[in-house]
Amino acid sequence: MKHITHFILVAAAASLASCATSSVQTTESQASLTPQQVIDKLQDGNMRFASGHSTRFNLPAQVKATSSGQHPIAVVLGCMDSRASHELIFDQGIGDIFSVRVAGNVASDDVLGSVEYGTAKAGAKAVIVLAHTGCGAVGGACHDVKLGHITGLVAKIKPSVSKVASDPKSEHSGPAFENKVSAENAKRVAAQLRAQSSILSKLANEGKIVIKSGIYHIDTGRVEFLD
Ligand SMILES: [Zn+2]
Repeated sequence: MKHITHFILVAAAASLASCATSSVQTTESQASLTPQQVIDKLQDGNMRFASGHSTRFNLPAQVKATSSGQHPIAVVLGCMDSRASHELIFDQGIGDIFSVRVAGNVASDDVLGSVEYGTAKAGAKAVIVLAHTGCGAVGGACHDVKLGHITGLVAKIKPSVSKVASDPKSEHSGPAFENKVSAENAKRVAAQLRAQSSILSKLANEGKIVIKSGIYHIDTGRVEFLD
């Protein structure tokens, strides 16, 4: 009886695995998408994630299929926050997106180099600077935290704090204020990518990539695009 039960369980697992998605991005699939279609795909993926209908990926099959090369369709520059995993929230599998993560999704030369590589060299069509609500790095900037290397990191976010604080219609402290700073910071970093990288601005001007900003809502699982 025990053996029969085991056999049934193994057969059921094999059958489930065969239903899981094992397809991956290829040179052809990457080339066939326009930048706007990539944004649409990520929005659709986020809708599936937020509604509890995420794709069941056959990850071992995707690992095997991508072992000889990768053709990701987007670069997401987001925060390191443990609740904001890019692949999960956009419902993407192995080899689908480049994920650049640093607290507060701030720009640096290394981040610029990573985004340039993902687009100019590896062919991704969309760049999304993704902030999130409840961000500790943004909170640190709002509260003028000074500690080790955190001081320099939050300094990069402070211009966004000042901008939101200068709006007479805005709150000047609290979670709503900090979430507005997060959104402002994402827009500011997206502008920095265009301003500080001639490679990225050229690709964007030629329509070969789009650079967008967004904010991920940690309470709903939804990504809101800001531009
Ligand atoms: Zn964060």
